[in-house]
Amino acid sequence: MSINVENITKVYGTQKALDQVSFSIKEGEIVGLLGPNGAGKSTLMKIITCFIPPTSGNVNVCGYNIFDNPLDIRKNIGYLPEHNPLYLEMYVREFLIFVAGIYGIKNNTKQRVEEIIELTGLTKEANKKIGQLSKGYRQRVGIAQALIHDPKVLILDEPTTGLDPNQLEEIRQLIKKVGETKIVMLSTHIMQEVEAICSRVIIINSGKIVADDKTENLQSLQNNSNQYFVEFNKEINTALIKQHLKDITNVIYNGKNSYTITTKTNNDIRENIFKWAVDNNLMVLTIRKNENNLEKIFHDLTSK
Ligand code: ADP
Ligand code: MG
Repeated sequence: MSINVENITKVYGTQKALDQVSFSIKEGEIVGLLGPNGAGKSTLMKIITCFIPPTSGNVNVCGYNIFDNPLDIRKNIGYLPEHNPLYLEMYVREFLIFVAGIYGIKNNTKQRVEEIIELTGLTKEANKKIGQLSKGYRQRVGIAQALIHDPKVLILDEPTTGLDPNQLEEIRQLIKKVGETKIVMLSTHIMQEVEAICSRVIIINSGKIVADDKTENLQSLQNNSNQYFVEFNKEINTALIKQHLKDITNVIYNGKNSYTITTKTNNDIRENIFKWAVDNNLMVLTIRKNENNLEKIFHDLTSK
């Protein structure tokens, strides 16, 4: 069980959507393809699932080649497209039986459909029309449809976009469960998503891979710098903060007695800020460490 992507380039007209992308994925990995909108995530997934051909390069999935054996690849892959088109007038169970038919599942179709309904938590919704379901349940139908033929590889394009926090957690658990026995690759533009679900992260920006590492190393991919948002009870001189606190590279006044402080260390300086304020008869009304966001990681990775 594997995915091998070799030097994939995709050009749309004059635009390069993917530029010499290469990686391999082994069994048991849940890989997050992380990148901002327009990075090339969906394009890459469409190439792996044989929906569009690359301009150059090659892909093998479970030993099958995208040019030579596209049908074998389709059999081995379950794919949830970004804007998953569902038949809103169909009932959930009816739809899944229909999809099983498309995949040529002939033996025990009913049993397979019931298994998938249970696995994806659709038991209570199975007799409803897809059009009546909430976004989270529609997404489950999408995942059920991708799993019906028990593929070895599951490709999910932004599976959690637009879900509320409860739905998000449930879909995450479902993806993790499925990931125990399959290769899962999912795309997202949200870093926390990767941290919550994936064992490995491939970061893509403007069609190029800028990082490929274990998720646990994601934080250390970043430069050692942090930002803090601090609100005092009165306006202060920014130069004073810079002078008296260690490791500060920049202080920006945001108005209303609040400041954004950037440091060149990973050490948390909130305690120092607090002590300094007390020593100077200032009150700290708010102090918050800004979580590193994707934009910052891209900036760090591409400006190294
Ligand atoms: P992502 O999924 O990361 O948001 P996409 O793969 O959808 O990115 O798109 C990558 C780039 O390729 C974008 O700039 C997009 O506008 C462009 N693109 C995608 N599909 C097409 C297409 N069919 N024709 C022309 N340009 C496209
Ligand atoms: Mg996309």
